[in-house]
Amino acid sequence: MSCNHHPDDSTLFNYGAGSLPDSLAMVVACHIAVCEHCQAKVADTEQIGLGLTAGI
Ligand SMILES: [Zn+2]
Repeated sequence: MSCNHHPDDSTLFNYGAGSLPDSLAMVVACHIAVCEHCQAKVADTEQIGLGLTAGI
């Protein structure tokens, strides 16, 4: 499991949306715990996800 590279945008998006497989979500969670850059991206994604959910 690597925490040393940034997950790509689609991975972060799916993480924020809660649609990653558990094994991959764990890797992303591990990375985000130490990476403010990706924390900010996921925060943005969660905002988008909430908007999409509210729109359905
Ligand atoms: Zn990162």
